[in-house]
Amino acid sequence: MAANCIFCKIIKGEIPSMKIFESEKTLAFLDINPLSLGHALVIPKHHGAKLTDIPDDQLSEVLPVASKIAKATGSDQYNILQNNGRMAHQVVDHVHFHFIPKPNEQEGLG
Ligand code: 5GP
Ligand code: ZN
Repeated sequence: MAANCIFCKIIKGEIPSMKIFESEKTLAFLDINPLSLGHALVIPKHHGAKLTDIPDDQLSEVLPVASKIAKATGSDQYNILQNNGRMAHQVVDHVHFHFIPKPNEQEGLG
């Protein structure tokens, strides 16, 4: 845990979030500024800024959780993105995987 990390505060419940999955080492919640309806973030609870800062065993659930979200929401058109560093558009320095559904045109957002 890092004291001034937004996502560590979400894990600890110090900042509210719309949680959609939680286990001992993984959390998924809705993005506060969604690029499309259902835009979610899947994070390891282990704090680290970049992918290479996270031990492999702390990452083992991340893609299976993204897959579960896809199945649960019925999304079959989506992007999974993971940014590392400012040049790569990373803003929050706690590793996170974006799950970004591509909704039907009729659904608006996206
Ligand atoms: P990045 O550009 O670092 O890959 O993306 C960070 C993401 O975190 C952005 O999509 C942004 O909307 C989201 N985000 C930033 N602060 C919060 C917050 O306090 N709560 C939630 N749910 N999402 C956040
Ligand atoms: Zn953190």
